[in-house]
Amino acid sequence: MTVSVRFAPSPTGRLHIGNIRTAVLNWLFARRNGGSFMLRLDDTDLSRSTAAFADAIREDLTWLGLVWDREARQSDRLARYEEVAKALKHAGRLYACFETEDELERRRARQRTRGLPPIYDRAALKLTAAEVQQRLAAGEKPHWRFFLQNTEPSRGLAPQPTLVTWHDVVRGEQTVDIGSLSDPVLIRADGTPLYTFTSVIDDIDFAISHIIRGEDHVTNSAVQIQLFEALGAEPPKFAHHSLLIGADGHALSKRAGDLSIKGLRDDGLEPLAVLCHAALLGTSEAVAPYTSLDELAQRLDLSKVSRAPGRFDIAELRALNARLLHMLPHEAVAEHLAALGLQVSEELWEAVRGNIATLGEVRTWLEVVNGPLTPRIEDAKLCATAAGLLPPEPWNAETWGAWTAAVRDATGIKGRALFHPLRLALTAREAGPELRALLPLIGRSRAEARLNGRPA
Ligand code: GLU
Repeated sequence: MTVSVRFAPSPTGRLHIGNIRTAVLNWLFARRNGGSFMLRLDDTDLSRSTAAFADAIREDLTWLGLVWDREARQSDRLARYEEVAKALKHAGRLYACFETEDELERRRARQRTRGLPPIYDRAALKLTAAEVQQRLAAGEKPHWRFFLQNTEPSRGLAPQPTLVTWHDVVRGEQTVDIGSLSDPVLIRADGTPLYTFTSVIDDIDFAISHIIRGEDHVTNSAVQIQLFEALGAEPPKFAHHSLLIGADGHALSKRAGDLSIKGLRDDGLEPLAVLCHAALLGTSEAVAPYTSLDELAQRLDLSKVSRAPGRFDIAELRALNARLLHMLPHEAVAEHLAALGLQVSEELWEAVRGNIATLGEVRTWLEVVNGPLTPRIEDAKLCATAAGLLPPEPWNAETWGAWTAAVRDATGIKGRALFHPLRLALTAREAGPELRALLPLIGRSRAEARLNGRPA
């Protein structure tokens, strides 16, 4: 089987960490199985979708490294949806309804007071063809519902318990009773098609083999399976992954602006850390850093995604980011550093990567190395002696050890009493990367000035 998956966001907001869980699980699945990954923009809701959000989605996916093999936009395919709608109407599976929203709400309220489930009573199906024609001719604008196959001939139009089942790649056997659902509206009164409908047509036309999406779509899947069948197509495989919830236990919503990919990016987090976190939370794999998506793809398959939600905590993402940075070679971060306006040599990167949680923190150590910096002098006499003992350049990783041994021999001071004043004078900080790596980068003239109490 040729594996073909899609990530189908609506361009009505910026992507957030929850969307990225879906995107990365699709991407990894395609990668593991030699398949293709499609970006589909679900933009049939014209009042809420914008080109700017579509661009932002592309930009975020590109930054994350989730490259896509093909792209489609639902607003380009309206003619196709219309054609399929026509065929479904002809087959009697799509029927015109003229109720207003108010009327439907009144009916639902009545059903509730009678203790009945508030499902659509299919009153529109009792209209004769002639009545429908008359109302259409009079300019009335119907919405169109999909007739679910949940009736029994002997019991008329009343829905009966009807189980739709499938084997879900993540959740195992799934069963949804479509006897408890209203016939879904597929086309609004203004003629625009709805996601439930357009998604199935696209999944058929683009030969999608697996639909990997959040478990909030489980009920949709039952309806969509009937739609696939009504359109004469074999439904793809379904995989509904658990959702991410916030540290407060609530669902993450698009409005959680600080969890937008843009926000995480502006925070200086690494794309790989964001992806590892989004993919591995709520799975049987440990949330750990991987230095490439391919490595993560080797590790994670859908059978490891658990049914329990993943709890997202920004503090944990930051800690993961730090662990990842400690592992990354210079070439893996050079571009991101440059994008932040930071010129960082390989030597400096190797000296500092163990001491930063985000790339932006390199800025501090660039200042330590390049100056200007006002030294902190704790023991002026010791520092002045140490300055006098600085060896001539060139310096390397051995210089620190040889020099501090000479200072120790000359002053009799050792251990913390020796190292702490030197660190404060050279870096103006209590802690940081190993001085044996920093000292050659600071260089002799700056080191000498700082030890003598002068900014440099
Ligand atoms: N646009 C839908 C959503 O974002 C796509 C769901 C699907 O993958 O079918 O929820």
